[in-house]
Amino acid sequence: MEKDKKKVLIKLSGGALSSGDDKYTEPTLKQTAEKIKNIQEKGFEVALVVGGGNLFRGRDLAGNLSIRRPTADYIGMLATVQNALVLRDYFESQGLVVRVSSAISMPQICESYMPQRARRHLAKGRVVIFAGGTGMPYFTTDTTAAQRALELNCGTLVLAKDGVDGVYSADPKLDSNAYKIDTISASEVLERGLKVADATAISLCRDNQLPIKVVSMNNLDKFEDDNYGTLVLPE
Ligand code: UDP
Repeated sequence: MEKDKKKVLIKLSGGALSSGDDKYTEPTLKQTAEKIKNIQEKGFEVALVVGGGNLFRGRDLAGNLSIRRPTADYIGMLATVQNALVLRDYFESQGLVVRVSSAISMPQICESYMPQRARRHLAKGRVVIFAGGTGMPYFTTDTTAAQRALELNCGTLVLAKDGVDGVYSADPKLDSNAYKIDTISASEVLERGLKVADATAISLCRDNQLPIKVVSMNNLDKFEDDNYGTLVLPE
C-alpha cells in the first residue's frame, strides 16, 4: 500500500521535554502543542511516539541492585506512559484532542494499542500518542516510532531533536568543524555510525521505504521544508 503523505509520525524524546532538573518544561510543552496544531492545520494527521529518557532509561539501572535488564526496560516503558499522560492533559488544555495508546495494557488509564482504532482516531483529527514503546525489552522508542509509522502507513517519520536542527557529521557541541548534512541515505547513517536513531529503527525505515526527517523541536512544523533539517532517504 502506498504511504499516506498527509499522515506523519513524530518521535519526541523524553529528554526533549525536560530542562535542567525539571522533568517537564511548560514553554516546550506549549510550543510543541502549537507546532502540532500548525501541522494539523496544513491537513496532516499527527501521531506521536514519546520516549522516557527524562524519567528513566533501562540501561542506567540494569545490573544495579540485582535488577535484570528486562525489568529495567519495563520500568523504562512505564516512564513513557507517564510522559504520554502528561502530554495528553497538557495538549488537551491547549485545545488538541488526544488519545493515548499503550503497547502495555492498563485499561484504567489509557487505551491498549489497536492499529485500526488508532487509524480511526487520526482520521477524526485526534492526536494519538503511542506509549509503552514496543512493549518489549531491548527495544527503544525510536524503533517503536518506525514500527508505528509503518503500520499506520505514515508518509514520514519525523525525529524531533532537542537543540540540533538535523544530522551533523560529528557532535556540533564537541567539534567546531562539524557540518550539517542536508540529505543522506539510511545505509550511510548506519555505516558512519551517525547518531540519528538506533540502528534497528534506521534499518526498519530503510527496508520498508520510510523516509526520516530530522528537525529541531523548535521547528517541528518545518519538517516538510526541503531547505530545513536533514532528510534520511530509505536506501
Ligand atoms: N524501552 C523498551 N522497549 C521499547 C521502548 C522503550 O524496553 O520498545 C525502555 C528502555 O529501557 C528505554 C526506556 O524504555 O531506555 C525509555 O525509552 P527511550 O530510551 O527510547 O526514550 P528516549 O531516549 O527517546 O526518551
